Amino acid sequence: MTGQQAQKTIHAGGEWRDAVSGATREILDPADATPFAVVAEGDEKDTDLAVAAAHRAFDGAQGEWPRTPVAERAALLRRVADLLVRDREKLGLLESRDAGKTLEEGRVDIDCVADAFRYFADLVAAEAPGRVVDAGSSDLHSVVVHEPVGVCALITPWNYPLLQASWKIAPALAAGNTFVIKPSEITPLTTVALIDLLVEAGLPAGVANIVTGPGHSVGARLAEHPDVDLVSFTGGLVSGTKVAQAAAPSVKKVALELGGKNPNVVFADACATEEGFDTAVDQALNAAFIHSGQVCSAGGRLIVEESVRDRFVAELARRAGRIRLGRGTADGVECGPLVSEQQRAKVEAYVDSALKEGAVLRSGGRRPEPSPERPENGYFYEPTVLDHCHREMRVVREEVFGPVLTVETFRTEDEAIALANDTEYGLAGAVWTADAGRARRVAGRLRHGTVWINDFHPYLPQAEWGGFGKSGVGRELGPAGLAEYRESKHVYQNLAPRPVRWFTG
Ligand code: NAD
Repeated sequence: MTGQQAQKTIHAGGEWRDAVSGATREILDPADATPFAVVAEGDEKDTDLAVAAAHRAFDGAQGEWPRTPVAERAALLRRVADLLVRDREKLGLLESRDAGKTLEEGRVDIDCVADAFRYFADLVAAEAPGRVVDAGSSDLHSVVVHEPVGVCALITPWNYPLLQASWKIAPALAAGNTFVIKPSEITPLTTVALIDLLVEAGLPAGVANIVTGPGHSVGARLAEHPDVDLVSFTGGLVSGTKVAQAAAPSVKKVALELGGKNPNVVFADACATEEGFDTAVDQALNAAFIHSGQVCSAGGRLIVEESVRDRFVAELARRAGRIRLGRGTADGVECGPLVSEQQRAKVEAYVDSALKEGAVLRSGGRRPEPSPERPENGYFYEPTVLDHCHREMRVVREEVFGPVLTVETFRTEDEAIALANDTEYGLAGAVWTADAGRARRVAGRLRHGTVWINDFHPYLPQAEWGGFGKSGVGRELGPAGLAEYRESKHVYQNLAPRPVRWFTG
């Protein structure tokens, strides 16, 4: 036990509370498996209270937020961005400890969160309030306007806790909705801190609510709740499917951002110069191993042209073996631990099954030796390169969500595209080539929501993010990421009403 007092981490109707049941949960630091915070463990009862508060703040006499002028809503979002910048160091550190990422990654996450708030503020502030439609007569006035959807349930994962929350909270608020957020039960701390910043920025009570607690109770209740109008979920395929099923009877709007099995296709011509080779290898490392591969868009499938494979894989494995693993806050550390013992066990099982199915281990494949910056109890796992993989292997087909890179090879462009598209997912992929025509040709044929050419991982708040196939339904970021949180309403006004005489009697 931590001996620490539990924080009141449930916020409903403007008040911080303990769980109705009094239950609590310890939050572990994945670098040494010790508890460093205690939070309220909510359940269905807490969820119902939070939804009722969000419902009142949307519909009831208190329902001022949906009617707040857009300029004021945008100004509030900008104040939140400023507060995030003010608290960057504190929040970056919290994210690093909670999710096991390096401190620098934690800081960059907070910058991206602030960018999301600014982007949606600018987007709503700049747009027209509606669209006038030509109804065919000067006696008719027809306009299509935006309206908020209502009470939004926002469910988020543990890998980018605050960033994923911001991609939902910022557009939901910009559009005038109220919400209940349920962060991952293992990484709730920065989302709790963000609710405090929303209050500090002046958001009316009941607009932003949070229930910390597990998916099977809090998440499931949110998805089925009759007073929730929309559920936006980011997480794995299994839970996402359950959310869609639970939401169906009440015909909610559903957005799902699910997993990925993302190909990184390298043509030999990208490696023709020393600089090109070095860049492609370096970026392949970054694609697969940043945040220990716990990234929905991780480039865990290297698909490399056969003629350069041996040299490419040798250099990749050499550099993977030199990645400095350790506690995210330790000096010089490049990669943190996995988020939990359960996650590490899952990764180990994938590597074991790949080796049994004939993969050849080129680097990693085990837990590292403990060291001062790598406590024995931490959930560390070495960056792992598996050569001679093929598409029948589980490790190639399923999302590993850990530091594991599989290598497949191709001889022709068609073969490369077929391999890259041979996945039930379709979140993101990259192509590396010095041939601009080929780059565009391949990008055009990849069935993935984001395609990088000679790059990996960058995203822009202005550009939609989301997947084809089982990577999800709907989009975050960009104008479509705002549209998810809106209804459109057609208002048709007859300025000179007359009888129509359809019925003659
Ligand atoms: P997860 O599916 O286990 O959990 C995600 C969230 O759903 C958590 O808050 C969890 O408590 C909740 N949940 C679990 N069961 C639920 C249920 N029955 N009803 C409602 N909510 C439930 O996922 P995770 O392990 O936290 O995150 C990793 C997954 O998230 C990976 O698959 C990753 O690819 C995906 N992800 C996708 C994106 C994207 O943009 N597409 C971004 C980040 C993560």
